[in-house]
Amino acid sequence: MALLITHECVNCGACEDQCPNTAIRMGEDIFEIDHERCTECVGFDNRPTCVDACPVDCCVPDPLRIEDEETLFERALHLHASEAVPPRLLDLTSRFRA
Ligand code: SF4
Repeated sequence: MALLITHECVNCGACEDQCPNTAIRMGEDIFEIDHERCTECVGFDNRPTCVDACPVDCCVPDPLRIEDEETLFERALHLHASEAVPPRLLDLTSRFRA
């Protein structure tokens, strides 16, 4: 599932640069996660990196967007198709294998 940012967000911006998929941007009031770019960091990390970056724990799973590893990894491959080093599925790059 994609993650979402709750209204507890204090707009510090700590998460924005941590996302490997540039899924986080400033919204109207607070930072937002584009669910079409979020892969839960599958392909890059064994934990959602925005979760670790957030000082107020407001990056949380979106219960309305439950997705499996295959779906998230396919999204990562699509987003990074033109890159020399594509996303990978390893213990260190998927929370499903951690
Ligand atoms: Fe970006 Fe990962 Fe957070 Fe999704 S879970 S918004 S891919 S940092």
